[in-house]
Amino acid sequence: MDVDTTADGIYRFNSADWTLDYSMMVQLQRPGEPYAGPCPFYLVDHPEGTVLFDTGVSYEMVQDPESYGQHGAPHMTDFVQTCDIDESRTPVAQLADVGYDPGDVDYVVMSHLHTDHAGNVSAFPDAEFLVHEDELEYAMWPTATAQRLFYLDGDLAPLRSHEYDVTALTGRHDVFGDGSVEVFPTPGHSPGHQSLRVELPESGTVVLAGDVANLRAGYEAELPAAFSWSLDEATHSIRAVRREEEQHDADVFFHHDQEDGARFPDPPEKLQ
Ligand SMILES: [Zn+2]
Repeated sequence: MDVDTTADGIYRFNSADWTLDYSMMVQLQRPGEPYAGPCPFYLVDHPEGTVLFDTGVSYEMVQDPESYGQHGAPHMTDFVQTCDIDESRTPVAQLADVGYDPGDVDYVVMSHLHTDHAGNVSAFPDAEFLVHEDELEYAMWPTATAQRLFYLDGDLAPLRSHEYDVTALTGRHDVFGDGSVEVFPTPGHSPGHQSLRVELPESGTVVLAGDVANLRAGYEAELPAAFSWSLDEATHSIRAVRREEEQHDADVFFHHDQEDGARFPDPPEKLQ
């Protein structure tokens, strides 16, 4: 796509490193092998405003899952044993390191609302949240038990509060109306999963694909995460991202892939 305007750049921050079995992340591959996946969030800098993509893992949740949120999340007690996190990695702390306050964030695009992406929502009371409608509905009452584990009321309660500005998306959404930052639906990992395409001055088209596949190997082999809401939909979304990649000659990044993370410059540098 030819666009006149581009974003200025994308910062990538890592909120935590969370070790899971590789076969959970890339369905049925390498069982028993641990993989320490980064849990990043991104800040897109655009002349008309700023867009945060995801909000990372909550430090508070990892410290004490049992008393997190109105009903606690005691089932996370075992899960968080393998989560490497510290206070210096919260979004507020890391944004401050590059000169941004939470109030400087205009939009927060949520890829989906699993706890490794949706902690720290409450840190951005002044932002407009752009979440897929199907995700908002499913997060309220996830049918599949495996999915239910990942939607925590401690993360999501602010989105239900009248004080937060939440826009429920139902399809593609051009954030600034100039084609440079576009949200597009990629369901499957969860019902309302969405990805972000960004046009950059030097790097060209970048797609932040979230958990369309948890790792690049899963994208290449069309093997989504084992605990995906729908393996069929997830596979269709892998193919949809591949079409974006081919059409725009895009550089695609997967959230939990160590090597994709390493292709980003470390803050305060940004991808331009
Ligand atoms: Zn994830």
